[in-house]
Amino acid sequence: GAHLALGVRVAPLSDRHVLLLIEDRTQAQRVEDIRRDFVVNVSHELKTPVSGLTLLAEAVDEARDDSEAVHRFAGRMQVETIRLGRLVQEIVQLSRLQVGDTLDDPVLVDVVGCAQDAVEHVRLLAEDKGIRILTSFAAQAKVYGDENLVTTAIRNLVENAVNYSDNDTQVSVTVRSDADLVSVVVKDQGSGIPAGELDRIFERFYRVDAARSRRTGGTGLGLAIVKHVCANHGGEVTVWSEEGQGSTFTMRLPAASPTTPAIPDTTRKV
Ligand code: ADP
Repeated sequence: GAHLALGVRVAPLSDRHVLLLIEDRTQAQRVEDIRRDFVVNVSHELKTPVSGLTLLAEAVDEARDDSEAVHRFAGRMQVETIRLGRLVQEIVQLSRLQVGDTLDDPVLVDVVGCAQDAVEHVRLLAEDKGIRILTSFAAQAKVYGDENLVTTAIRNLVENAVNYSDNDTQVSVTVRSDADLVSVVVKDQGSGIPAGELDRIFERFYRVDAARSRRTGGTGLGLAIVKHVCANHGGEVTVWSEEGQGSTFTMRLPAASPTTPAIPDTTRKV
């Protein structure tokens, strides 16, 4: 809700006068709320795989004479462990991005190379589903920033495009370079996102369909990371989507050029 948070302090000035200080703490309160929500969500999200693993370990122990069951439980433990590892990694990534300490030393980044790495990373996943990834890359597209972060952001978008699409569809990944902007466009023919949810999908741990996200090993943090990477690079991410028609995510980052030698200071801290 749109509540106003006011901090009031009274300071005596003399016998007859007091100074009344009224401070608008709405923004500070909001940041504090977001931080508290995040901690609550993180503990909740961590508890799920941890209690899953605990139960599975007990099950393995009880089934020790049934090798087929042991094998089955061990396989599920592996899945949970991978999920947990990924969750921890993304939580750390996101908190570092929020502190904004990752871009202290921006270097020239080849966005086409990042996109190639990202596509390579999801190739097997796509092949499993018979999804074709079409690429169209500019001859050159450079930004200032952090290569790992840009690769991670593109990979998250391509991974989502594959995960939220049916078998035998197409995903396209385009890198364009205009005078002062590098755009990365990831387009799918997947399930799409209901209009009412479009604003929320960039929030941490927000999923349109929690069960589906869980099946694909999703953490609910992918798009929050994309959003922060773009912001830390002085850019933005936008989405177009229609249910049943697919989705298009566009990252726009300021291009590196002789006239923009580095990222402006104001955009470094998010
Ligand atoms: P997750 O780990 O759940 O994929 P994300 O932050 O990457 O988390 O995405 C948040 C939610 O947005 C997803 O759970 C999904 O509901 C929706 N979403 C993201 N990308 C797509 C897409 N390309 N098509 C349809 N839905 C998507």
